[in-house]
Order: sequence, then structure tokens, then C-alpha cells
Amino acid sequence: MSAPGNNSLNAARRAAELDALAAGEVVDLLVIGGGVTGAGIALDAAARGLSVALVEAHDLAFGTSRWSSKLVHGGLRYLAKGEVALAHESAVERGILMTRTAPHLTRALPQLIPLHEQISRGGAAFVMAGLRAGDALRRTARTPSALLPSPRRVSGPEALALAPGLRSRGLRGGLLSFDGQLTDDARLVVALARTAAGLGARILTRLRVTTATGDGVEARDLVADRTVTLRARSVVNAAGVWAGALVDSVRLRPSLGSHVVVDGGRLGIGGTALTVPVPGERSRFVIVLPQRNGLVYIGLTDEPFDGPIPDEPVAPAADVEFLLGVASSVLATPLTESDVLGSYAGLRPLLEGTGRSADLSRRHAVLTARNGVLTVVGGKLTTYRKMAQDAVDAAVAAAGLPAAPSRTHNLPLVGAGSRDHLSTVDASSRLVASYGTEAPRVAALASVDPLLGAPVAEGSEITAAEVVWAVRHEGALDAKDVLHRRTRIGLVPTRSAAAQERVADLVTRTLAGLAPAT
Ligand SMILES: Cc1cc2nc3c(=O)[nH]c(=O)nc-3n(C[C@H](O)[C@H](O)[C@H](O)COP(=O)(O)OP(=O)(O)OC[C@H]3O[C@@H](n4cnc5c(N)ncnc54)[C@H](O)[C@@H]3O)c2cc1C
Repeated sequence: MSAPGNNSLNAARRAAELDALAAGEVVDLLVIGGGVTGAGIALDAAARGLSVALVEAHDLAFGTSRWSSKLVHGGLRYLAKGEVALAHESAVERGILMTRTAPHLTRALPQLIPLHEQISRGGAAFVMAGLRAGDALRRTARTPSALLPSPRRVSGPEALALAPGLRSRGLRGGLLSFDGQLTDDARLVVALARTAAGLGARILTRLRVTTATGDGVEARDLVADRTVTLRARSVVNAAGVWAGALVDSVRLRPSLGSHVVVDGGRLGIGGTALTVPVPGERSRFVIVLPQRNGLVYIGLTDEPFDGPIPDEPVAPAADVEFLLGVASSVLATPLTESDVLGSYAGLRPLLEGTGRSADLSRRHAVLTARNGVLTVVGGKLTTYRKMAQDAVDAAVAAAGLPAAPSRTHNLPLVGAGSRDHLSTVDASSRLVASYGTEAPRVAALASVDPLLGAPVAEGSEITAAEVVWAVRHEGALDAKDVLHRRTRIGLVPTRSAAAQERVADLVTRTLAGLAPAT
């Protein structure tokens, strides 16, 4: 086992820890799946003093957790469906992430609903009442208004000042509200896994479970090309939309959600997100989400998905067309297909139920199979911490594990600091938003050698130092891990192609110990 407090994940640590477990060491809890749910479970259990192993078939955040809208929701949409408890839970979890556990990876996102002819005066009053209800949820969750200000109506000129690219014809004003936004969903997963690793959890990627029982798993080690048996006192299946492949009794109704990626300069909305009503639907919206790096993600569809679950879902052309069309309805210059820099899609691991997938509950559940394997499914990225707590509570009860109560509500993730502290960290705001209090170490690595300070491709803001950091500390094992999960260069395929060779070379050199030391 690695030294206590060591939160660096890398190939050498993986190999040593896997060897120890394959040799017969028994852990208290083994979690299958390295998405936000599995990483959250590993952290919750390790923080209670349990010995933990997490096994992931591909890489951290390989599955749905990297395809989200990257929002930390306050629960408004659940309120609209009458799911008050779920809405409250979401607001509480948003507050925990934004104020205590991950202030560095989250920020307040202003969201504007432009009031054009699509929304009647009555409709606007109805939506505003909903936003006020969402604000009441924020208050009950004790999230300060200094962080997430209350909603308000803005005039037409103010709406245009916030988002100059809006169509001014017919613009009566807008409804402005605030929600939480992640720097990136995959980086949240990596931060969770590293924080768990710092508490002793073994985080093992490239390990595909083929059979799971209540006291262990058989898995294929994709690095050493061998089969290993890992033993545990309890096993939790957090394989998301793939959970049913490991436990027959788990029935899911996956739903596909797509986003398109465009250049923010093309839209002219600055840092303000837009919430655009879908014509003919009362409470369905398309969201236009500006990112810190100048890209904008436009989402979101929600359609039932049948058939075998692909490793990497693809956004259907019809979804891309639909999203561009709805977003364009409020823009001065409509978007066309030539504006699309990339697209992505993910599958929601929703519990089977009746009705349209958009209407299925986002509640989570912990299910116990006959063979003793616990499965946790459903839920949202925002509520990962509560899902993890419930899953570990169930494992502790079922296996009689000696564990303290959950303490993750008050446990800062790697790189976290108060917003005041983060504002004084000596590094660029881009680095602080990705690495938090670790940003100066990444910046120091970039200053060791001009080559490390250089971008990995022309026009990219990601430096070679960040690639080396990803391999040394964030568990990246190859170029794809870096391009698609530690950084999100991969969301724009042309940029990914341009950076591929340099990133692959840096990964190889770092794994071989040839990159400079910090
Ligand atoms: C389009 C879209 C947008 C969304 N937007 C938001 C949002 O803005 N905010 C929000 O709160 N929520 C959002 N969600 C929901 C959220 O993304 C998911 O609920 C969450 O990411 C699910 O995480 P998970 O860890 O349960 O599953 P996953 O992230 O899919 O993780 C499961 C992991 O298990 C691994 N695995 C599978 N089989 C095996 C095996 N046999 N052995 C080992 N490992 C295995 C997979 O490789 C995968 O990494 C969105 C969902 C979608 C689809």
C-alpha cells in the first residue's frame, strides 16, 4: 500500500497495489466502476476507515460521467415534477460541492431565459415563479446568495448587455438566475479518486470485472493481460449504464443525451448561459453553456435508448440539428452545421419505470442481489455524494463492517480551498479552476523547461507540463486518458488530432521516467 496521504495515481502505484490484491489481500469494500458514483463510494468508504479497492474497466470517468452538461443542479427541474425531497437533496449537494468539497472545480453560472415571442407574459410569470421556488430551495440548503444570487427579471438592454449575440428583434427582456457549473465533470471524478487514494484507497483502472459476487470479483487486467481474483467483504456495483451486465436483476432504462460543441465567439454570449424554450413544449429547454476555455456546449436531448450499450455513444445527426435549431431561435445570427466543432452523447443510467425517459425519476436506489452484490444506480452527478453515502451505509450494514459514519459532506477534495484562498493562489485562473491549490505545482513544472511550458498544439491552452502532471499524479496511462479525460482537448476532434502526437510522446517519456523532475 502507498504511503498514507499520497494522493498521486500513476502506473507504478497501480501495478504495486494490484499485485498485492491479486496475491490474496482482502479489502473491506470493492467498488466496480470509476465514474462519479464509484469514485464517490471509494472516497466515502476510505474516509470512514475502511480498506477499499476501486476497479474500472477503462479509465476514470470513461463512462457517462464525462458526457454530462457539467452542471451542479439546484433541483429546480425536480421541483417542477413535484419531487420535493429530491429537489432539496440536489440543492443541499450543490451547496456542499460549491462551498466545502470542491469550490475550485465549481463556479456560479448566470443563466438567462431570453423573453422573445415564444414566451407569453403569462408563461414568463410562470417560469419566474419556478425560479423563485428554486431560490427558496437554495435558502433551505443554506447556500449563500453571495455565491448564487437570487433570480431577477432584466430589461431588454440588460439582457443584450449580458448576451450581445441575442436576437434583439422581439426581445422584451429576460429572466436571470444562477446555478452551479463544474470546470469539468471528468476532473471532478479524478479529484474524488485521488482524494480517496490519499486515504489509502486502491484505484485500479484497466481492470474489467467479468464476474462479481458478494465476496469478490474476477477481473481481466488489461495492462498485464491476465485474469485476477480480488477478494472483499462487500462488493458494490457502480457500473452505471453497464450495471445490468454484471447483475442480472438490475433493470435499467438508459436514455441518450447529446450536446454539440461550438466556438463561444460565434455566439456572442460572453459568460452567460442561455436557457431556450423548445417550441411547443411547456417545460422543455435547450441550454447553451459557455465554458471557461471559450467553447460553448449546447444540450440537451433525452431519448430512450434501446439495444446493446456502446462504450462511447455518438450524438445522432437529428439531435445536432435539433439543438442548433432551438439555440438559433434566440440568436441574432443562426448557427449552422459548419459551426459545429464537435459533439458528444452520454447514456443516463435511469431506473426502469414507465413513461417518457424525460419523465423518469432521477432518484437513485441501492439494490441487493441474491449473491450479495450491492448495486447503486440512478441519480445525478450532483448527488453522487449522497448516493455514495447510501451505498456505503448499505455495505456496512450488510457485511457488518466496522465503520464510522460518513464524513464526506465536510471533506475537501484534492486541490480544494475556500474561494478567498483560491483567489490568492499564485497561478493563472485557468490553472486554479482545474487544479485548485495544486495549480502552483503545475505552473512550476511548466517553468522547469520551455518545452514543458509550451502548448501541446498550436492554439491549445494545455501545456506539456499538464500532460506530465496527468501521468505522474492523475493516473493517466496513455494519450487517450490525457486527451479525453484529464483534459478535454478531445471534445474538438481537429484539436485532438493536432495534439495527439505530442501528447503520446510526452506520455511515453513520462512513463519511462524521462520527463524532468519537479
Ligand atoms: C447527456 C447527459 C447530461 C447530464 N448532465 C448532468 C448534469 O449537468 N448534472 C448532473 O448532476 N448530472 C448530469 N447527468 C447525469 C450524470 O452524468 C450521471 O448520473 C452520472 O455521471 C453517472 O455516473 P456513474 O458513475 O453512475 O456512471 P458512469 O460514469 O458511467 O461510470 C460507470 C463506470 O463503470 C465502468 N464499468 C462498466 N462496466 C465495468 C466492468 N465490467 N468492470 C469495471 N468497470 C466497469 C465504466 O467504464 C464507467 O467508467 C447527465 C447525464 C447525461 C447522459
